Amino acid sequence: MAALDELRREAEACERCLLADTRTRVVFGEGDPHADLMFVGEAPGYHEDQQGRPFVGQAGKLLEQLLATIGLSRQQVYIANVLKSRPPNNRDPKPEEIEACEPFLLRQIELIAPRVVCTLGNFSTKLLSGSQTGITRVHGIPQRTTIAGRELFLYPIFHPAAALYTPAMLATLKEDVLRLPDVLALPLSGDEPEAQADHAAVATADGSDGPGASDGPDGNGASEGADAAPGRTAPAAPPFAAPDGPAEQLGLF
Ligand code: URA
Repeated sequence: MAALDELRREAEACERCLLADTRTRVVFGEGDPHADLMFVGEAPGYHEDQQGRPFVGQAGKLLEQLLATIGLSRQQVYIANVLKSRPPNNRDPKPEEIEACEPFLLRQIELIAPRVVCTLGNFSTKLLSGSQTGITRVHGIPQRTTIAGRELFLYPIFHPAAALYTPAMLATLKEDVLRLPDVLALPLSGDEPEAQADHAAVATADGSDGPGASDGPDGNGASEGADAAPGRTAPAAPPFAAPDGPAEQLGLF
């Protein structure tokens, strides 16, 4: 897509923050520019900085394995980050870096126009929800919202890098990913009437509450506090049930 290519070139030349001095490569993002499903991580790590591609290290391998459980490859989705440049030693992104980089992410969402933006961990979840409520409380709950003029579902899940070292978090992450096909099938107001009927049928097939109120380690940074997100629509009621049994035995490891 020409506009996305143009935006990539702009990002590659960007010097809006000091990370421009220390990065090896800009990591703009990659995947299907027309994807229904977009993932947003935190920031490039060592391997991403070396290769100029998002999620190519251990966390990326896990993300690919999780995608495979719902029959998707990384080429069928779009993968980006809040920051396009690596923070030195993988430190947390600074507020001024997030602010400098945000226009690139918003324009990516505008151009790609995904149905679902799946935020990975606290940084992308807080930025795109406009709320300081942390990932431990909001994971697995789709929120209908409008970002960059696009109506979509925000679907926060744990960051794969955090889940790599915490088995309980990995189990929850697997469960949340397995619900992604249902989230993708939720109706949006711009859908054709026929498609809307299909999506509505999926959404009402099973109307019980989803997960999301559980407390536990979030393993991915900042503290939590409830608030309302000004200018954003209220979270949609979870249209699907929490899984009945224990975490699926997916045999990933
Ligand atoms: N973690 C992220 O948040 N993004 C990447 O691209 C890699 C690891």
